[in-house]
Amino acid sequence: MAFSLVDDSALDQSLQDATNQTDMKQGKNRCTSMYDTQLHNLGYISSEDEEEVEPLLSTSCPNLTATGRSSSPSNLEESEALHCPLAAATSSSNVVQDSVHHAMSYVEESMQTAKESLQNAFESVDRFAHKVWDGRWRVVSHFQLPDWQRDNEFLHHWHRPPMPSFRACFGSVFRLHSETGNIWTHLIGFIMFIGICIYFQCLPGKYFVIEWQEKTVFTMFFLGAILCLCFSTLFHTVGCHSERVYRIFGKLDYSGIALMIMGSFVPWIYYSFYCDTEPKIIYMTSVCVLGVLCIVISQWDKFSTARFRRVRAVLFAALGLSGIVPCIHTIIRMGFMQAVNYGQVGWLSLMAFLYLFGAFLYAQRIPEKYFPGKCDLWFQSHQIFHILVVLAAVVHFHGISNLQHYRFQFGDQCVITQQ
Ligand SMILES: [Zn+2]
Repeated sequence: MAFSLVDDSALDQSLQDATNQTDMKQGKNRCTSMYDTQLHNLGYISSEDEEEVEPLLSTSCPNLTATGRSSSPSNLEESEALHCPLAAATSSSNVVQDSVHHAMSYVEESMQTAKESLQNAFESVDRFAHKVWDGRWRVVSHFQLPDWQRDNEFLHHWHRPPMPSFRACFGSVFRLHSETGNIWTHLIGFIMFIGICIYFQCLPGKYFVIEWQEKTVFTMFFLGAILCLCFSTLFHTVGCHSERVYRIFGKLDYSGIALMIMGSFVPWIYYSFYCDTEPKIIYMTSVCVLGVLCIVISQWDKFSTARFRRVRAVLFAALGLSGIVPCIHTIIRMGFMQAVNYGQVGWLSLMAFLYLFGAFLYAQRIPEKYFPGKCDLWFQSHQIFHILVVLAAVVHFHGISNLQHYRFQFGDQCVITQQ
């Protein structure tokens, strides 16, 4: 009857392990039948288990097997058994117990080792985190960066190392490294546009023809510009945190550019086609659809990698250049001179030029391409691109402010857009 709690295969393995162990222990007096009896009483070992052990014992300890375990051994026989070299194997209960002890101690040792390793790893991470937390990090060279941080090989040094602490990332805003210029160029722009937005929203209604509509379309522009500059500042600040954070904020950064372009179109289209509802709706809808498409493409993981730098530049330049269609439409309807004087085509062209020139420098990595290692801190293409983006937004604000001013002068009459 099988009432053992140990299955046969486990028992075989246990026997083998136990034999090996006893070979090493060289017959310590562990063959006493005390445990054997106890295990019998507890029901852990069956007579079938003992029969399996018997052949093994017969080859190693004939004196013991000759006595038969089920019969009562004499004192002499027990005494012989006590001195048998394979004493531990004389009892299946001892075999199982030794094996269990062996397995238990092995598991305990393994767990202890794993626990210590884990503790050491945590302590190392903790020490590193504390150093980063305290701002005790040093700038590193391009080749010391992990792959996900290697964006521009022409910037040789002054890079922040990966710092998995947001506090350390935000603390780095006030330190000198390759991203300091990128952070501050858009942080200053962000603060500036928040100020302009508050000023504009506080203008009294007497300066507008239809206050709520005009303030709404201007708000679209401010929202796009502020979000773009905010996401960009955040991306350049926390981009060194980890690869995951880098990817998430990279997507936000690119989405912000699309939002800025979309927001810039709204007041311009609104005033340029003030009396023409149909083209106004078509152009606004078109730029929104194209902008959303750009945002969707920006969510692709590989889009933020260095390999797709030119694709990014072309995509956003194309979104901005889609403004050529309503621009030509305005010139056709108003005539060139009126489009320049009243339609602000000149300012809008300057805005487009600044933006596209910035995108070109960004894609070509000029000037660091011609001066490798010399633009690590200042005058790198990305900083120039940032400055040109802010300038383009200021020029655009000036252009749409002029459009608003002329609309205010003409009132609700449709004289500007009519030939
Ligand atoms: Zn940027």
